[in-house]
This record gives sequence, C-alpha cells and structure tokens, in this order.
Amino acid sequence: MDQNDIASNPTIFGKILRGEIPADIVHEDIHCLAFRDINPQAPQHILVIPKRLIPKLSDASEEQRTLLGHLLYVASEIARKEGFAEEGFRVVINNGENAGQEVPHLHLHVLAGRAFSWPPG
Ligand code: 5GP
Repeated sequence: MDQNDIASNPTIFGKILRGEIPADIVHEDIHCLAFRDINPQAPQHILVIPKRLIPKLSDASEEQRTLLGHLLYVASEIARKEGFAEEGFRVVINNGENAGQEVPHLHLHVLAGRAFSWPPG
C-alpha cells in the first residue's frame, strides 16, 4: 500500500520519497520521512511527511488517526535528537489555500532556533 502510494505520488515530495531528487534526511521509518526544508524559515526547519499520500490534513481518514499521532511523535523525537526540544520549537501544518499550503502532500513544519511571534502572519 505504501509502496503504491509512493509510486503514484505526483508531488515534489513524491520525488523525494522515491529518491528522484535529493533531500537532507533526518529521520525515516516505515510510516514517514523527515528532511530539511530547502528554503528554511528558521535556523532549523524540518519537514515531516507521511509516506502515504494524504494531500492535506483535512483529507486524513479516521483509520489514519494513528498515523497522524505518529507524525507528531516523530516531530517531538526530532526536536529532542536535534537538541532544541527544551529551548522551544514550533510545529505548523498549512492546510489548503488560505493557510498557504503549496505542496499538496501533508507535511508538518518543525521550526526552531529563534523566537517565533504570535499570532502567525
Ligand atoms: P507549504 O507551503 O506547502 O506548507 O510548505 C511546503 C514547503 O516545502 C516549503 O517550506 C518549501 O520550502 C518546501 N519545499 C518545496 N520544495 C522542496 C524541495 O524540493 N525540497 C525540500 N527539502 N523542501 C521543499
């Protein structure tokens, strides 16, 4: 199932999952891949993506609830391993047009290394 999803994923993240374009990978397991953002918005900017093709968060099905939790857990694990868990970090999911989502494959932005303002822009 995951392999079929990866093979047919038409997005830029599909190319990364298939190894067609390079990425600076920081974590991989059977469910997800995490790699550094090509255009970082903070000193640390890592994307966590499911291997299954889920275009956006609101497309996730009930059976994918465990996967969604896994993505969050991996984000926190990366924060600990990269050493910014204690100083603080931000996790962002842009869902759809108004949120500015550009790549139609669910991804968590994990941002760290500076203070972030609130509310977001
Ligand atoms: P979105 O705006 O969809 O929430 O975020 C998409 C993110 O993917 C952006 O932060 C953008 O810099 C990143 N991105 C787009 N293309 C690539 C790529 O080819 N490689 C990597 N590592 N990141 C990318």
